[in-house]
Amino acid sequence: MTAAPPVPVHPRLSARVAYRVQRVLRPAAGYRWLSARIEASGALRALFTGAERQTKQALFGCRMCGQCTLPVTGYVCPMGCPKELRNGPCGGTRDGRCEVDGYGDCIWLRAYERLKHDGREQELLDHAPVVQNQGLRGTSAWANLWLGRDHNSRRKTPQAAFSTLEHEVQKR
Ligand code: SF4
Repeated sequence: MTAAPPVPVHPRLSARVAYRVQRVLRPAAGYRWLSARIEASGALRALFTGAERQTKQALFGCRMCGQCTLPVTGYVCPMGCPKELRNGPCGGTRDGRCEVDGYGDCIWLRAYERLKHDGREQELLDHAPVVQNQGLRGTSAWANLWLGRDHNSRRKTPQAAFSTLEHEVQKR
């Protein structure tokens, strides 16, 4: 849950390793089957959600927003931002520093630097803004991903959105 104030956490996994793990966790029929079984049982759901919370809190300072955007931010959790900004830095960023005392470097600068280290900084621009669905807070982001309940099931990169638009224009 997200009752405690946001705290920026330096990820305890390198971006390279985290992206490898992400490939293993991509939605697949087996995961969908598993999540449906887990969701059907209150006890299993609590156990599974608790395990996700423990793991991701320890590794990324996860605050269980329920729709994980770690893969687009170099595995820096954007919910550690004092304003919980999920779409980029705000106008209060000065020289890469957060305007709120005690928060140090802006979350988005940290994300950029981690991605740049692996030559993936362009990925920060390659995704549509992820608006928080408040109804998913406190739920398992893994189950939401596998069951197609989060933003990933509707995800369009700006390029993809542009291609769709181009296609629509050509049909006229
Ligand atoms: S599920 Fe949400 S709060 Fe947790 S790590 Fe991912 S983005 Fe951060």
